[in-house]
Amino acid sequence: MHIINRTLINWYKLNKRDLPWRNSTDPYLIWVSEIILQQTRVNQGLEYFNRFIKKYPTIIHLANAPIDDVLKLWQGLGYYSRARNMHFTAKKIATDYSGKFPDNYIDIKKHKGIGEYTAAAIASFCFNEQVPVVDGNVYRFLARLFGIFESTQSVKGKKYFFEKAKSLIDNKNPGEFNQAIMEFGALQCTPKNPDCSVCLFKLSCYAYTNSVIEQLPVKKSKIKTTSRYFYYFIIIYQDKLFIEQRKENDIWKLLYQFPLIETKMHLETEEIVKNELWKKLFEGIEPEFLNISDLYKHQLSHQTIFAHFYSIKINKVSQYLLNNYLTIKKQDINKYGIPRLIEKYTSKFFNKKNEVLPLI
Ligand code: SF4
Repeated sequence: MHIINRTLINWYKLNKRDLPWRNSTDPYLIWVSEIILQQTRVNQGLEYFNRFIKKYPTIIHLANAPIDDVLKLWQGLGYYSRARNMHFTAKKIATDYSGKFPDNYIDIKKHKGIGEYTAAAIASFCFNEQVPVVDGNVYRFLARLFGIFESTQSVKGKKYFFEKAKSLIDNKNPGEFNQAIMEFGALQCTPKNPDCSVCLFKLSCYAYTNSVIEQLPVKKSKIKTTSRYFYYFIIIYQDKLFIEQRKENDIWKLLYQFPLIETKMHLETEEIVKNELWKKLFEGIEPEFLNISDLYKHQLSHQTIFAHFYSIKINKVSQYLLNNYLTIKKQDINKYGIPRLIEKYTSKFFNKKNEVLPLI
């Protein structure tokens, strides 16, 4: 066994965090945990994981659940395509594999929403397949330990890191090795200010001995982000509101939202009331402005959303609104899966006892 390998596994046995999926080889649990943890910190992810597994203890439970319920449970975690893909894949595995998870890297990776990393995690943790798992923690640790200056985001770099991890992997216990190297990166070789003085590898670590810890790993220049401007209309008719489901292949697909005008630049209210959608929504009606919210800025990985919420009271409902939107009771908004951005605003509809407030 490689010396690095043995050191990591011994360290892991003493230092690993006690997480519910750690002592399991159930591929469904590993899959759910890996997908949740892809863009989420462990503390927050843990709460969602427990709730998810309680509601959907097996892949069959998930496959049989309505997608709206799954998205509702996912609310607040972001990157909703993860939940949609999981639901899709659960159905596929339920049908094609009678609910039994495929047991090898190639077959696991064929499924929607399961990339190389997740497939490797499931194949090695659950089926002891000798395939390396290279996540952000592993990139960082390997880059620093061996002084690898290839970009972690280039095709060449990814291949290099993959091969490096593969050369270290323990052939007897690849699952434990993969968990150990990931945990070491997460807890010891941290992104900022790692405590190298206590590190088991400090004497052989390239980054430590050459004082280039902050320069590694090398990432590509920042991805450009685009700005989108959202104007939501919370249209109140008696105790009713109007919502729609997002259908396009875009962020937040299948989540619910208020009637929306989206633009590429900021609009003043005078411009909004001239918009075609506005005219249709309020045809033959005198809408009464109750409130225009402050600006809500919402950051996604490649997009910045700038949003305002217009609260508008009407005494009559236009045909367009009736035909194209769902009419719901105000207090029922909590029952629908909505983006976190909207939730930040709608949480103000309710007091601490979750009673609906009379006005927005
Ligand atoms: S010595 Fe520091 S930089 Fe090197 S592996 Fe250990 S924690 Fe990471």
